[in-house]
Amino acid sequence: MKLRSYVQGAWYEAPDGFVSVASAIDGRSVAEVSTRGIDFAAVLEHARKVGGPALRAMTFHQRAEAIKRVALYLNDRKERFYELSLETGATRKDNFVDIDGGILTLFAFASKARRELPNARLAVEGALEPLSKGGTFVGRHVMTPLHGVALHVNAFNFPCWGMLEKLAPAIIAGVPVVTKPATPSAYVAAAVFEAIVESGALPEGSIAFVAGSLGDALEHLGSQDVVSFTGSIDTSLRLQQVPAIGQHAVRFIAERDSLNASILGPDAVPGTPEFDLFVKEVAREITTKAGQRCTCIRRAIVPRGALPEVQRALGERLAKVVVGNPRADGVTMGALVSLAQRDDVRAKIAELATEAEIVYGDPDRVEVVGADAARGAFMSPIVLRCDRPLEASKVHSVEAFGPVTTLMPYDSIEQAVTIANRGDGSLVASIFSYDAAAADALAVGIAAYHGRVLIVDRDCAKEQAGHGTPLAPLIHGGPGRAGGSEEMGGVRGVFHYMQRTAIEGSPQRLATVTGVWNPGADERRASAHPFERSFEELTAGETFYTPAREVTLADIEHFAEFTGDRFYAHMDDAAAKSSPFFDGRVAHGYLVLAFAAGLFVRNELGPVLANYGLESLRFVKPVYPGDCVRVRLTVKEKTPRKPEYGEVRWSVTVFNQADEVVAQYDLLTMNATAEHLPAQPEPVVAG
Ligand code: NAP
Repeated sequence: MKLRSYVQGAWYEAPDGFVSVASAIDGRSVAEVSTRGIDFAAVLEHARKVGGPALRAMTFHQRAEAIKRVALYLNDRKERFYELSLETGATRKDNFVDIDGGILTLFAFASKARRELPNARLAVEGALEPLSKGGTFVGRHVMTPLHGVALHVNAFNFPCWGMLEKLAPAIIAGVPVVTKPATPSAYVAAAVFEAIVESGALPEGSIAFVAGSLGDALEHLGSQDVVSFTGSIDTSLRLQQVPAIGQHAVRFIAERDSLNASILGPDAVPGTPEFDLFVKEVAREITTKAGQRCTCIRRAIVPRGALPEVQRALGERLAKVVVGNPRADGVTMGALVSLAQRDDVRAKIAELATEAEIVYGDPDRVEVVGADAARGAFMSPIVLRCDRPLEASKVHSVEAFGPVTTLMPYDSIEQAVTIANRGDGSLVASIFSYDAAAADALAVGIAAYHGRVLIVDRDCAKEQAGHGTPLAPLIHGGPGRAGGSEEMGGVRGVFHYMQRTAIEGSPQRLATVTGVWNPGADERRASAHPFERSFEELTAGETFYTPAREVTLADIEHFAEFTGDRFYAHMDDAAAKSSPFFDGRVAHGYLVLAFAAGLFVRNELGPVLANYGLESLRFVKPVYPGDCVRVRLTVKEKTPRKPEYGEVRWSVTVFNQADEVVAQYDLLTMNATAEHLPAQPEPVVAG
């Protein structure tokens, strides 16, 4: 099977120069790749000139919808991906993380973007900053998509998930993607990519696929481009040295070797649930995907006294592992991706063995089910033990990217922290402990070095996500050796492909640039009350002022009796005066809110379907008996949710009779769209 690239909006088959990709199971050639003849400068330029503008013309929600359509399309075709993936040596269970996990990640990014980002082409970040005394000059941060291209260089171990977890945030950000899978599993990525193109969900030029070498692509990168690399440290260092990367300050994020640690707490002695959970997790991590996972537990750090028991229990579990052809019955661990990868792992084990002793498995011998051990890239799980981890260096820096872990003892919590942090940072670390003091000290001690710290105990055992969760990119992508201190979780992953810019100007100019009304910007008075207008009819800046109403002492007492809130500041004049904030009895903040609602709500059935909550509420000044309050209600921002309704964010300001602000908040309502206004009920006819 000759894999094609997809460049400049068309499929491309190279004339020659093919490299063969072998099956991990039997060494037979399953695919060939070549990119000979591709003009990479033109590929990048097409993405920038055609894909970029097409994506930037869409809103975050439209791009998220497109990603969701891709996810639905892939979901209907995943059996083909599963079948192909078996050739990579992975079992069906392993491939669940890659294939279903990848599709799930698309769905999750799409829904997160629709919930957390506006239906707009730019996003505001943080609050409006006053920059002048008179309030005529203000500032705000906005995020806009980079005008370049996202070049994704992926590792072999998750050909589907690895491609999709990067594609989703870049596309949602509005940046076109050129994706390059690792050669050993490129045929799986190619099948998934082909389906993405077939789905027709993404605009022309927004995606490209390179099956084989990247040629001179990196030399043509510019200041608006982003490289997102996953793979080994050696490759990432090579790529970062390409002159164009430094010259144009190309954003370069590298997720690479990660010497993840798992720590067994001092309390988790044999017989406790945490001990069993720990042993199970270490065994699971090194055998899932034959240990070819970036989150795999490479260092199992245990109390010195518990070491023999851990070693024994782990050995017992690993003895049940059945290595072989993933298509054969009963096989629980498949092969490494290639013979070359197995050679690499063996060489790394030999390095580790200069500081540690192999206590389980033989790197050169394994019993194999359903395949010829001599032709496939099979290997036994391997456990090493390093008795002096504080004096060792390789066990903390050499990543054997296979079914390999090293046990290391500690004598105190401080020592466990030091050993874990010797890994120089990693994607994820875990702590297995039910002792609050130990778990707290370990978590705080190692947090600065890790993207994710997982604390597992009996209370969360059933639902905990484990070291390797496909949804990790929604939580965090990880710092440390993973390539810098970039935070990548969730919407931050989208923002990684965007520029954060402070926009400064008058309140009105900022309102028009951002599409979000802010105090000081123009207020438009509509003829009808805004609560009588459909979602579409409302526009940012539309403002309504209510009449005023007096807040009496009787109101305060009535409210106190009715709700039971008889806090002294509302009931006892002398006690209230003793507070540094009050000159006497004051109205309840909640009473002010309730009166505000009473002043602006419409009683009749209308477009407002529900009050969805309040945000950023501040009671700025006390309201005293006899004060008069009135409300300014302004449409701040609108976000479509469903065809039937959308969310309206209102800026609500409550003033007193001296026009001083006494309360300020955002009110969220769900408002019906014009086509779905609630029907007036039939009048009830008596009789
Ligand atoms: P790799 O050999 O470093 O390759 C990674 C990617 O770089 C592949 O797509 C490879 O393409 C490409 N590449 C290699 N040389 C290149 C060059 N000169 N120019 C452009 N691209 C080049 O890593 P791998 O063997 O695929 O993956 C295993 C490694 O990935 C392990 O070390 C593991 O720790 C790491 N990993 C890390 C994470 C993480 O998030 N921290 C996740 C997964 C994997 P070819 O295959 O075509 O050479």
